[in-house]
Amino acid sequence: MNFKQSILETIGNTPMVRLNRIVADVPATVLMKVETFNPGHSIKDRMALKMLEDAEANGDIKPGGTIIECTSGNTGMGLAIAGAVKGYRCIFTTNDKQSKEKIDLLKALGAEVVVCPTNVTPEDPRSYYSVAERLSKEIPNSFWFNQYDNLSNRQAHYESTGPEIWEQTGGKITHLVVGVGTGGTISGTGKYLKEQNPDIKVWGIDTYGSVFKKYHETGEFDEKEIYPYITEGIGEDILPKNVDFSIIDHFEKVTDKDGALYARKLAREEGILLGYSAGSAMAGLLQMKDQLTADDVVVIVIHDHGSRYVGKIYNDDWMRERGFLDTELRVKDILAKK
Ligand code: PMP
Repeated sequence: MNFKQSILETIGNTPMVRLNRIVADVPATVLMKVETFNPGHSIKDRMALKMLEDAEANGDIKPGGTIIECTSGNTGMGLAIAGAVKGYRCIFTTNDKQSKEKIDLLKALGAEVVVCPTNVTPEDPRSYYSVAERLSKEIPNSFWFNQYDNLSNRQAHYESTGPEIWEQTGGKITHLVVGVGTGGTISGTGKYLKEQNPDIKVWGIDTYGSVFKKYHETGEFDEKEIYPYITEGIGEDILPKNVDFSIIDHFEKVTDKDGALYARKLAREEGILLGYSAGSAMAGLLQMKDQLTADDVVVIVIHDHGSRYVGKIYNDDWMRERGFLDTELRVKDILAKK
């Protein structure tokens, strides 16, 4: 017999896939670590399991307890899967810009979801951070995982994502490209890879409306950089403890429009259906292509699956309402003009 003891043993060991058409004018070899093969269809399964195992080992959560987390969906999905297997109740706070699909998926796995307003400061009692903290204080035997500052997050990637990439590229990786939200993925993966070869360049992908790039370049936390944006999962209005700025060589900002368009291009040209931030990572790499040579081996780590965005970036009406498809004519519009 050949089987896993539970679905949790299927986390990690995701495939590395070469990109072809979309990188036709990039001189380097461009590989993608396709994290959608995790059971929750995102990379966050890795850190969710690690945070839960560490919380159990530290006695922060006990059998029958309640997992509390503020999550844009993917961490919640990972925690909901692990929680279901291990028998924990899950309560997640999320914000009202997240796709409905993500919220419905969390509920499908048995979690309770509290939707909080997006456009309030982190300190506001209605913010998804504050609500998670309050619930954790009021519910007995509950633990707020706080993926932003919980360093088990980046440790998960140091222990699994980094070594997998090193092994799958036979140590030939020269550039790592990763979207940055909590910073766990880039910091843990980047640290492991730089320990193997300090010459590896680590490029973080940021959004317009986020503080990371300016902070990295000037050391200044500039509130003027903060404004609402549409891209999900990357960029922040806080500096999470999981972001290790010393590991990151450069932050590249990508617009909401380009992130969406390049996710669609990845689906159509590579047959890989991915989330919004994967499009941002792709667009960010293409913005940087002049810095690459034929000897370079780039690895883009993507975060989640496109199924969570069918009502958004893969929906033409949604795209057009935001002016993201202004150069694309639809067959039905051309026929209507007759
Ligand atoms: N993309 C998506 C879709 C995500 O959910 C996240 C997690 N917030 C990220 C990118 C960024 O990953 P990390 O939190 O590890 O920086």
